[in-house]
Amino acid sequence: MKPDDIISYSDLVREEKANLQKGMNFGIGKKYSVFLMSVRPGAPYRDKIDSATGCIIYEGHDAPKKAGVDPKAVDQPLTTPNGKWTENGKFFRAATDYKSGLLKEPHLIRIYEKIQPGTWSYKGVFELVDAAYVLDGKRKVFCFELHPVEKTVFSGRVEVPITRLIPSEVKREVWKRDGGRCVKCGANHNLHYDHDIPFSRGGSSITAANVRLLCAKHNLSKSDKIMSVAVLAHLGFGGGLQFYN
Ligand SMILES: [Zn+2]
Repeated sequence: MKPDDIISYSDLVREEKANLQKGMNFGIGKKYSVFLMSVRPGAPYRDKIDSATGCIIYEGHDAPKKAGVDPKAVDQPLTTPNGKWTENGKFFRAATDYKSGLLKEPHLIRIYEKIQPGTWSYKGVFELVDAAYVLDGKRKVFCFELHPVEKTVFSGRVEVPITRLIPSEVKREVWKRDGGRCVKCGANHNLHYDHDIPFSRGGSSITAANVRLLCAKHNLSKSDKIMSVAVLAHLGFGGGLQFYN
């Protein structure tokens, strides 16, 4: 799984070997946790992604629904009624333990973002570096600050660095425009958001115009081309960008 891979909900369940019913899942992968997030209009929480740094502010979660109580009107709970930590509490403790030096390493969280119902995008691994319990004008909510991990060995695999970040609204637009299919062959599985001009080659402003859907096969054949472009550049040939169609 690489950042910007597109997966279905059942792929997500298979990848994490868990039936993820809630957004915050502390310690689900033994050495890491899982957050599900959404920045779609009408999303239940106010998660934010900084598209320049890739940092995420993730909002804590509300108290469970109860007759006669609006979960959006009461403080997000730190503990359950019988005194156990809620998911908010577990992550809050992990963040404060890291800040105080009690935890040597920050807690790691894999994040998946909802693009549309049933369609998710993997955002990579993040470090939980800070947390706050703040008044939002009406009630107290949790805010968790997450920084992208440059490179982490994850159950034997190495997560690729997140060098480019495709904003969520661009992802939604591209998904719609390309009809949820690879633009080369029409495949509708193993898809990946592809940034047409690699970030390293100056494709820095990310708009729907330079992002497209590619299947794993075509995404792979593109990396071969990038390599050959690099080889050509090394040999003194310029104008490599015409290699994209
Ligand atoms: Zn394809």
